[in-house]
Amino acid sequence: MSSFLPPTPPGASPVTPPTRPVIGYRLPSPLPRALVVCDFDYSLIDADSDEWAITLGGTRPDAEVAMTRMAQRHRDGENWVYLVSEEIAGLFESKALADITALRELLAMIPMHRGTVALLHDLHARNVDVIVVSDANAFFIESILESYGVRHCVRDIITNQSRIVRSVSGHDLLKIAPLQAKPSAPSNGSKKLVAANCPRQRCNWNLCKSAQLAAYLSSRIQYDRVFYVGDGYNDLCPLALGLVDCAFVRADRRLHRELVAVESVENLVAELAVGMPVRQGRFNRMENADAVEGECGQESWYMTQSRVPCAAVLWATGDELQARVVRELERV
Ligand SMILES: [Mg+2]
Ligand SMILES: [Zn+2]
Repeated sequence: MSSFLPPTPPGASPVTPPTRPVIGYRLPSPLPRALVVCDFDYSLIDADSDEWAITLGGTRPDAEVAMTRMAQRHRDGENWVYLVSEEIAGLFESKALADITALRELLAMIPMHRGTVALLHDLHARNVDVIVVSDANAFFIESILESYGVRHCVRDIITNQSRIVRSVSGHDLLKIAPLQAKPSAPSNGSKKLVAANCPRQRCNWNLCKSAQLAAYLSSRIQYDRVFYVGDGYNDLCPLALGLVDCAFVRADRRLHRELVAVESVENLVAELAVGMPVRQGRFNRMENADAVEGECGQESWYMTQSRVPCAAVLWATGDELQARVVRELERV
């Protein structure tokens, strides 16, 4: 009991400390807060940054051999992050890359659509928080965003670690290391090591985007809406967990194919561990589909069949992404 309360006189009942009145409504915030979560490769940029660096933007004579060798080692169980780190080190060693500046200049030539660049500027001007969650690495992402003049539009970057170190021969090297710790043993009964914190026990052990996004959301102010831009298999996890209200899914890539997979009609949520809380996205995808068709009579942007508990909007180019994200932002 608090020492600030007066002592209870003999025979009287104890003093009950005052409690805060319960307010049955939320105070309105001046503006609805939105968070836009972006995958990087083939979402913000129109390439895979690992592949771009390793193949020297497609100019490396033995590019195909190198990529095939890495893919084989990855299938054999080696983590992709270490393979990229090793391959980049080899490019410095063979002088195919003269120094870190040469790597930065190579990354600066990665294609990024002008619509995507405009979208990032627009979101920044609207005071919308943007974060990147990616299986690339901090050096690649920072370098590319800086080269397009949009680094300041991105609040946080959650990705594998990178640092520049001096080699014994006196050259700068880029070391890339996994974001998450390696688990000691497979936990899903198979041979494959998966992320210890992955609710679906599917993600590569170095990064589960849903675990990272859940931690990010719980550490920050409440967002009214969470948007997600993605194209790949590892973008499925945060959508399945219900952390997202509206997903902007790049057409005809892996995430799109996963969302319409007919061989597994049950909702992805069923894959989650028993007892895992699932939040239903605030947008009802069918309502939205009707609204768009009714409003403008154009083809629907919304996927009407999806295995995740959120709205899903398709896009193909940076211009389309820009128009559709802005439209959703202005909807409410
Ligand atoms: Mg991607
Ligand atoms: Zn996962």
